[in-house]
Amino acid sequence: MHEGDGAQAWVPPHPTVPSLHAAVQDCRGCELYRDATHAVMGDGPSGAALMLLGEQPGDREDGEGRPFVGPAGRLLDEALAASGLAEVPAYRTNVVKHFRHERGAGKRIHKTPSTWHVAACEPWLLGELEAVAPTGVVVLGATAGKAILGPSFRVGAQRGRRLEWPADRFALRRPPVWLVATAHPSAVLRSRQRDEDLAALVADLSVVRELIG
Ligand code: SF4
Repeated sequence: MHEGDGAQAWVPPHPTVPSLHAAVQDCRGCELYRDATHAVMGDGPSGAALMLLGEQPGDREDGEGRPFVGPAGRLLDEALAASGLAEVPAYRTNVVKHFRHERGAGKRIHKTPSTWHVAACEPWLLGELEAVAPTGVVVLGATAGKAILGPSFRVGAQRGRRLEWPADRFALRRPPVWLVATAHPSAVLRSRQRDEDLAALVADLSVVRELIG
């Protein structure tokens, strides 16, 4: 069990959502824990048919220890409500569990996790996928899309339609069946054409609404 060797040594062997929550705070699989407040494991019911998968916790999530509690989470809630998914039980999580950032002007500024960080943290995500066993996964943005579909993934080219879960990439006992890709809500927040991009996010989530039944 060495810092920088990836998360596998910290992940419990038969993961449940509570056991993952308990174990992740001790993870030293990469250096991101050093300058963060909390590891942020996913949130939602075990057995949820839907998993929403983002990039990493932000400043607010790092402080509270819960995913999607900041401005991007509020926009995601808005989009879920507009697409008819607000009442559908969903497990929300990120591919990386600690907040990667740099300091500037007295603030902590988001920094995209590297491919190495995503790979180091992958055992936690696989543990969540085993424990929750969703039928469908919504990948929010490029980092999540590349984590699942590989480096050639592009949001613009692959968003808004049913894609098959790449079962050969991951050893899961009960893999998801499908996934749908869309933009990350934080990208919509930053956009200069926010109304159009929010409408596109809602349209993609409406596809998910159809698939989930
Ligand atoms: S980012 Fe992931 S692998 Fe790195 S220390 Fe945090 S939980 Fe462990």
